[in-house]
Amino acid sequence: MMKENKSVFWFATGSQDLYGEACLAEVASHSSEMVSGMNASGILPFEIVFKAVLIDAESINRLFSDADKDPCCAGVITWMHTFSPAKMWICGLRNFRKPLMHLHTQFNSALPFSTIDMDFMNTNQSAHGDREFAHLLTRLNIPRKTVAGHWRNAGVLRRIAGWMRTAAGINESRQVRIARFGDNMRDVAVTEGDKVAAEIAFGWKVDAYSAEDLAKYVDAVSSADSAALTEEYYRLYSVNAAGRSPEEFRRHVEVQASIELGLRRFLEERGYNAVVTNFQTLSGLKQLPGLAIQRLMADGYGFGAEGDWKTAAMVRIMKVMAKTVPNPRGTSFFEDYTYHFDDAGSGAILQAHMLEVCPSVAASRPEIRVEFLSMGEREDPARLVFTSKPGRGVACSLVDLGARFRLIVNDVECLPQENPMPRLPVASALWRPFPDLERGAEAWLTAGGAHHTAFSYDLDAGQLGDWADAMGVECVFIDADTDLRTFRNELRWNEAAFSR
Ligand code: MN
Repeated sequence: MMKENKSVFWFATGSQDLYGEACLAEVASHSSEMVSGMNASGILPFEIVFKAVLIDAESINRLFSDADKDPCCAGVITWMHTFSPAKMWICGLRNFRKPLMHLHTQFNSALPFSTIDMDFMNTNQSAHGDREFAHLLTRLNIPRKTVAGHWRNAGVLRRIAGWMRTAAGINESRQVRIARFGDNMRDVAVTEGDKVAAEIAFGWKVDAYSAEDLAKYVDAVSSADSAALTEEYYRLYSVNAAGRSPEEFRRHVEVQASIELGLRRFLEERGYNAVVTNFQTLSGLKQLPGLAIQRLMADGYGFGAEGDWKTAAMVRIMKVMAKTVPNPRGTSFFEDYTYHFDDAGSGAILQAHMLEVCPSVAASRPEIRVEFLSMGEREDPARLVFTSKPGRGVACSLVDLGARFRLIVNDVECLPQENPMPRLPVASALWRPFPDLERGAEAWLTAGGAHHTAFSYDLDAGQLGDWADAMGVECVFIDADTDLRTFRNELRWNEAAFSR
């Protein structure tokens, strides 16, 4: 299993020494009460820890430096209760490398109309102090998330919760370690990319191995272990051995069990959390990894097919972001395969892959099948077959434009799969991109998006945009509001804004 760590977010309140001890004590007490209240809301996926009221450059520098060094600190939430002259924040903020939220709130909700006086206004002046602070953040060009609203408001708390998950993805980006078995699929452009540029921009480590390195691990798996894991498969999933003898079927499934066990050992020993395969370079593997990859994805590993390490990294990051969502609906690698055109404006894209769709998105119990596959020129691989849950989700594609990266994010609606596809031997989703199939596809193609995507039901486009902001890369959104003319212009403007 993947490693877990208990992250917390630090809360720092800005003030200054002009107001006297009594005021600063009140600021601290309010901050403490607010943090306790937010933690008690049950909405936040991580705990907030109130650290300090900061009133000078020294305490500010120390707090951000400590936050940077503490492995349990996932990010800092700042709020100016009073006015806090922002020059004293410059050094601390410039050296800070973790996710930053500017929570623009205040202790009281309503104005105390009948009692308000100058003392109250001086103590409770976030509307004033947070503008000074935000001006500096903008001037320093520091990526941060700004959330405005009262701290008890459920909508505000949900936005903080969403950002906390994004922050987990921002932090995870530096931890992404991808093992590639084989190189990019021959001649394919969109899955290629500059791995040095990716390590600089995102922190990803992308290492190549030969499939033979993996085959050795798979061969070392004992038949007892692969038989035991196959038993587990048979308990967890339906078995559809149609047209095959049960013994022959099971032998094929056992090959995937041994690939799963060999892959897991390989990745665990070397500390990888994402994996990439290529059907053209399978070497000594008896089958294209199918069921094995599906199981690893369900366990939180990133995956990309045909050498696609960029999508593998995005799947891994989105799985980490979605991990703390209550009752998660699923996150997977997908591929745009074939269209359902419809004159009524309700066309859709059939999403699938040769084998590798994550069972976390399955609408019902997946079925194990063993079917012919021409790609890879190996024996018929076992795979999990299912259709995906209906509902809203978000799909993204990270492309390398040569000089820089672009993240393309599309809101999609997964449709109930009412028409059975009995002859399709792979897992699938049927989704309608927003604003509709035609305009969604036109925008996606104009932006240069890939046929591979990282998809999740449990995240929204804004979270992926915030992640891209933190990475300093372009992000474009295709959604209900997309207008093609504006979208084309946005791409042109971004060309200038993001050129390096
Ligand atoms: Mn593919």
